[in-house]
Amino acid sequence: MIILVANLGSTSFKYRLFDMTDERLLARGGVERIGSAKARFYAQAGHATWEEEAAAADHAVAVEACLRFLADPQRGVLRSAADIRAIGFKAVHAHGLTGVQRVDGRVLAAMEACNDVAPAHNPPYVRAMRLLAEKLPHIPLIAAFETGFHQTIPPANRLYAVPREWAEKHGIVRHGFHGASHRFIAERTALVLGRSDLRIISCHLGGSSSLCAIRNGQSLANSLGFSPQTGLPHNNRVGDFDPFALPAIMRATGKTLEQVLDDLANRSGLLGLSGVSNDLRDIEAAAEQGNVAAREALAVFVASVRHYLGAYLVLLGGADVIVFTGGIGENSARLRSAVCEGLEWLGIVLDPQRNASAKGETPIHHDSSRVQLWTMPTNEELIVARQAKAYLAGERSP
Ligand code: ADP
Repeated sequence: MIILVANLGSTSFKYRLFDMTDERLLARGGVERIGSAKARFYAQAGHATWEEEAAAADHAVAVEACLRFLADPQRGVLRSAADIRAIGFKAVHAHGLTGVQRVDGRVLAAMEACNDVAPAHNPPYVRAMRLLAEKLPHIPLIAAFETGFHQTIPPANRLYAVPREWAEKHGIVRHGFHGASHRFIAERTALVLGRSDLRIISCHLGGSSSLCAIRNGQSLANSLGFSPQTGLPHNNRVGDFDPFALPAIMRATGKTLEQVLDDLANRSGLLGLSGVSNDLRDIEAAAEQGNVAAREALAVFVASVRHYLGAYLVLLGGADVIVFTGGIGENSARLRSAVCEGLEWLGIVLDPQRNASAKGETPIHHDSSRVQLWTMPTNEELIVARQAKAYLAGERSP
């Protein structure tokens, strides 16, 4: 069963093509600058890579061109575009819906209702999915929602202390996000360690960041809350914040609520704090050169990771494994070292050499560490492909 997993941006489309009979990655690629006469198409299958410029008026044109490309006999990737059983999407959020859903008018309306909860993610998805449903009606579109993995979070970690009807009537609760990544880490860690009765703290640190407490493969808490703007500071989104600061900043600056929310969703997080960049590499370089705001941005980020790490160690009664994933979690040895500093009394002992040279899926704990520490590339697309496959087979997995 061939499944294409799509990742949509407002002017981009990235895909991975899986043969789900053996979970083999057949190809990966995408299109940049959709909407322009010089869109960039790129693809990789095995050792072969391709790149070309061509017009792509919209996402449907871009996807159709990629399907034609994959089915081109000269490339030998697919016999025919008709072999693709479904296009799967890692969808962020829909009002009143979660799990795995066939994309139809009801799902699109529920996603659209959350446009202001996930402003960076939902609007481009809804636009592109609507277009694909219209132009490629023969291919089932399947959305695997990021909130699905967190359905097991108990009320103690799900409810805000607000009037009950906010939760009951209006769904104002901690939904949790990054479900595909944390689910992958839970499943992969169990496979690597050969047991499933594990207490795992999954640290997905990247453009968006969150920690997740996992026991026996189930999510018990996630640092992301009602929206993907909460929890840890993100690249340009705020993280945890006191809503009572809103009227104060609106009065002081004369900005409207929409403008202030836009600041919180686009000019805050690591970018807002450092004033340097939304990329941790730039911030680490500036900090090294003595930039105080960059140093403080790193310190706030590390403190926030440690805040949730401490909470989840208490919640789980200790941890068997702490996993670092995401662009920052996998690549920044310095950040991992700062997170683990001084935690020997908790049985968390990083091995400096292993940490410094870690690449891919690697243990980085010292032999004396009670808690295993790992770096692990996540594979959200594979999770979406598995969920789409299960959905098509009739199992509506949560
Ligand atoms: P997303 O959450 O958007 O999928 P990623 O998980 O790919 O993003 O993370 C991207 C971020 O990872 C970059 O913005 C950068 O801050 C960080 N990053 C990538 N490589 C490194 C590195 N070598 N050192 C430090 N940070 C890195």
